[in-house]
Amino acid sequence: MIDTRSLLDSFRRFYDREARLFRAPGRVNLIGEHTDYNEGFVLPMAIDRATFVAGAARDDRRVRVHSVNFDESAEFNLDVEGRGRRGLWLDYVEGVARELEKRGARLRGADLMISSDVPLGAGLSSSAALEVSTGFALLSLSDVAINPKELALAAQAAEHNYVGAQVGIMDQFTAVMGKRGHALLIDCRSLETTQIPIGASEVVVAICDTRVKHELASSEYNTRRRECERGVEILREWLPQVRALRDVSVEDFERYENHLPEPVRRRCRHIVTEDARTLLAAEALRDGRTEEMGRLMFLSHKSLRDDYEVSCAELDTMVEIASGVKGVMGARMTGGGFGGCTVNLVLRASLDEFQKEIESGYKRATKLDPFIYIAEASDGAKEVS
Ligand code: ADP
Ligand code: MG
Repeated sequence: MIDTRSLLDSFRRFYDREARLFRAPGRVNLIGEHTDYNEGFVLPMAIDRATFVAGAARDDRRVRVHSVNFDESAEFNLDVEGRGRRGLWLDYVEGVARELEKRGARLRGADLMISSDVPLGAGLSSSAALEVSTGFALLSLSDVAINPKELALAAQAAEHNYVGAQVGIMDQFTAVMGKRGHALLIDCRSLETTQIPIGASEVVVAICDTRVKHELASSEYNTRRRECERGVEILREWLPQVRALRDVSVEDFERYENHLPEPVRRRCRHIVTEDARTLLAAEALRDGRTEEMGRLMFLSHKSLRDDYEVSCAELDTMVEIASGVKGVMGARMTGGGFGGCTVNLVLRASLDEFQKEIESGYKRATKLDPFIYIAEASDGAKEVS
């Protein structure tokens, strides 16, 4: 947990002035993996781990930033053209500021101090939490009101243009639009969003961090994007109305899949079936049919492992152990893959046993200590009083 009082104290000591406080959450995706950049459906929720930004406006156009996580300071000037893609954490902050200005927001300079309890690089999207929290802080300190969707799009563009990761819109959108007690069913084409209450029920969302992150992640990510595009190109010969894999039904896919070379066929099968699973899961969650929701999560993992091939031994082990625990309704890898976290739907009454089994089983299998954390659905970006 971030101690917000001590963050404000540190800000005062560091900059010798008072600050306002803003936050934006990390997220966990319940189901709908790798579907966002195929213009399909995702079902994430914002979590109760967040990036906090203490900030005060300046009279000039300098933006000074201190990251408590890295114990590092950096700055840029909004009036001086940026260099971008330096491979520094500042790229995220500077990127979102410049993307907001490109969209017409006239920002003031600011002094910022950032502290996050979203684990960095674990697939819970500390990057989107950073972009959105600083973007929201800069807008608020400049008295600029923009459509929340524009903030999410600016944050995504920051990651594309200033960091160099061609991410979908899910993470940034969830960090902006998250709603306490709710998951969000997002149509990544229209950005139409349906809030699905998960409220207080007999099940909890448990996140298990494998504590590994394999190098493959970003190169394979870009390969998968290309494989999906190739699938669309070929399927369009038979289905000319198709613009993205989101437009392909499971029936149409089965009719034409023989025209697709491997591994494109399997990649497309994952996306097409995952979209269908995500829509079913949203209904199951809404209706409190948690067994069905869990079943779809297990199927999603299998599809990501065998068809999309973005899992890894540690993620598979974690899901395998979870599936053997009584009271676990569903488990799957979450996020881009090749490490990071699993998401689990667990009966509240079975939580102790779940934690015990995961801790001992995962350690036995991998010699690594897992990190387990129970997530509550939280609100998107806001000012904290
Ligand atoms: P994920 O989004 O899954 O956590 P990423 O690799 O996309 O992983 O983003 C992690 C990167 O985001 C970090 O390496 C760092 O550059 C930046 N970052 C996130 N949170 C902070 C923070 N509090 N302070 C500085 N940089 C941060
Ligand atoms: Mg990220």
